[in-house]
Amino acid sequence: MSITVETYPSLREAARAMRESTWYLGGGTLLMRGVNYGAQGFDRIVRTTDAAMREIHPEGGGIRLGAGVRMAQVMAHPDLAFLAPVARSVGGPAVRNMATVGGNLFARSPFGDFTTALLALDASVQMAEGPALPLESFLSGRDRQRGIVASVLVPRPSQGAFRFAKVTRTRPKGASVMCIAAHLPGGGRITNARVAFGAMGATPLRAKAAETALEGAGPDAGGIQRALDVCLQGLDPQDDAIASAWYRREVAPVHLRRLLLGEER
Ligand SMILES: Cc1cc2nc3c(=O)[nH]c(=O)nc-3n(C[C@H](O)[C@H](O)[C@H](O)COP(=O)(O)OP(=O)(O)OC[C@H]3O[C@@H](n4cnc5c(N)ncnc54)[C@H](O)[C@@H]3O)c2cc1C
Repeated sequence: MSITVETYPSLREAARAMRESTWYLGGGTLLMRGVNYGAQGFDRIVRTTDAAMREIHPEGGGIRLGAGVRMAQVMAHPDLAFLAPVARSVGGPAVRNMATVGGNLFARSPFGDFTTALLALDASVQMAEGPALPLESFLSGRDRQRGIVASVLVPRPSQGAFRFAKVTRTRPKGASVMCIAAHLPGGGRITNARVAFGAMGATPLRAKAAETALEGAGPDAGGIQRALDVCLQGLDPQDDAIASAWYRREVAPVHLRRLLLGEER
């Protein structure tokens, strides 16, 4: 079956075209791979050249990233140093030159490393049509989402409060056994921590039991132990070609421990 790619100069026109069931083209690293492998059931793909989709700019206490921003753009932007290691962990250079922030929101496990970081940072998602959604709500309804993601608003973490680790079998560019992102505001005792795991469920997931256990804890081995004991609650890892669900469960507390103690490479 032939597929038509429709290119619109504005996001508004593209969003209108997307009201009919179809697919949106970001960088195409997943979508076009699917097409090349014979994905069935659609004959139209929509894209837009709207420059707003590629913009990065400060907004309030955060930074707004257009959904079409590429990983390589994130790595090069002076305001996004805290996210540069996350973007650098996505695939190899060719993938990073194409892979977008918007496409990563839809990437299936074990992909979605960038989204895991955004979840720990409490980002929100702005659709081209409709209200902004907390990323967590967006992810829980992801398979029912219709329309185009226009941008993501990322709260800026205070210096040193954000941590990210990706566990892979092949460095530097393997897919995740898991990735973990944590936002640990404050210097001494931990308060309002957010911890997110990638490749430990169908979408990136928060480890809410661990977050609760970290409240008021000291940032040392004794203080974080309770969080390690409960960190698997609510996670649902799957078997895949990268690792078994069993292995993922076994090593998750080990890697979370290293991340929280600042020992993760
Ligand atoms: C060799 C290889 C290595 C990879 N390594 C990693 C890795 O290490 N980590 C990782 O996280 N991912 C990895 N990926 C997966 C992928 O490259 C990234 O997740 C990337 O961010 C997906 O973005 P994209 O723009 O290419 O998405 P696309 O392929 O363009 O789209 C993917 C899906 O998202 C939808 N979509 C895209 N943008 C929007 C939007 N703005 N609004 C609504 N829907 C949208 C599309 O319709 C499609 O369903 C890898 C892929 C390959 C091929």
